Amino acid sequence: MDFRSLAQTYQTPLYVYDFDKVEKNFLEFKEAFAGRKSLICYALKANSNLSLLSFLASLGAGADCVSIGEVKRALIAGIPKYKIIFSGVGKRDDEIEEALREDILFLNLESYEEMQRVERIAQELGKKARISIRVNPNIDAKTHPYISTGLYENKFGVELEVAKQMYIYVKSSPHLEAVGVHFHIGSQLCDLSPITQASEKIADFLKSLLALKLEIKFFDIGGGLGICYEDEKIIPLYDYAQSILSTLKDCEPTIICEPGRRIVGDSGYLLTKVIGEKRNSHKRFVIVDGAMNDLMRPTLYHATHKSFIVGKNGEESVCDIVGSICESGDYLAKDALLPPTQEGDLVVFENAGAYGYSMSSNYNSRTRPAEVALIRGTPKLIKARESLESLWANELELL
Ligand SMILES: *Cc1c(COP(=O)(O)O)cnc(C)c1O
Repeated sequence: MDFRSLAQTYQTPLYVYDFDKVEKNFLEFKEAFAGRKSLICYALKANSNLSLLSFLASLGAGADCVSIGEVKRALIAGIPKYKIIFSGVGKRDDEIEEALREDILFLNLESYEEMQRVERIAQELGKKARISIRVNPNIDAKTHPYISTGLYENKFGVELEVAKQMYIYVKSSPHLEAVGVHFHIGSQLCDLSPITQASEKIADFLKSLLALKLEIKFFDIGGGLGICYEDEKIIPLYDYAQSILSTLKDCEPTIICEPGRRIVGDSGYLLTKVIGEKRNSHKRFVIVDGAMNDLMRPTLYHATHKSFIVGKNGEESVCDIVGSICESGDYLAKDALLPPTQEGDLVVFENAGAYGYSMSSNYNSRTRPAEVALIRGTPKLIKARESLESLWANELELL
């Protein structure tokens, strides 16, 4: 990849995504579930750029959304409404209403109370709302606590007993139709056994629902598959699919899978430029033009994104790679090994395709980076760098 010319053409900090890799990752999911009815609903929150979404739409992807904004993005990008699902613990009434008007595939419910709200809104609209219920299997996904979601101490999903009452309620409601059952136990999962355990639990539950003559068509297994940031062992998708399918021996629901990170994570790079170096008696700091507002994961999750300097060798020494934001938490790497740098050198961070741009902010009145896609190696700008004026446009009108 010609990082130098990309940086020259589009400036830094810059996000670059290799769409060929995205395609390969997506097709690997399709392949793993081949021979079975399946729908891969890409989780938009990992990276919701419209060009990325329309590229995935062209490959047949559906969308897993967690806000009405994401639902609209999916629709604008050309993902068909019957492949869009809407999850999240705190859906507002107006979001539910809009989702029902758009007639998407289903809403994933997260509580008894939410079910009643959806029923009321569907009734007001004279519609029947298709729903699924997110069940919390109370299984430890063994990942970072911030991205672990399948335990009772987490805010997500409902307990099995409550879910059962909900399905029974839905069965008799003229404004609700239960079409799926859902679980999602966390993100950056590198261990298959908790997923298998959860799948077993929810598959048994599904069978008990089918025995009650509920016509549940979709078995939604969530997303969460990890990628290799440092030295993690990733779960082979074939093993993943086989282990899920092994829990569904006596029934044939359509599998819905909601991968985010595993589709886009390793396709992305964050390009930054060295501003200078600084040393004290204790430490070496390499200061770059990217910062925690561009890539939040290192400071938020203590995540590591491998980094390197383009086209430079030399004796490496330990340093922190930091931005210019007024926070000690503003770093992109801790204790990285880099050769001596000079102003203008390019520092590239790997595996930045997921939860990079989508978690970025304007903190310190910094404009967000541009985004570029490489399609068969050819670069295409897919989001322009923000302008300074755009930062205060909504305030100027009110001044
Ligand atoms: C975040 C999320 C996903 C995607 O998680 P990844 O780790 O990016 O695969 C899928 N489903 C739900 C409900 C989510 O909240």
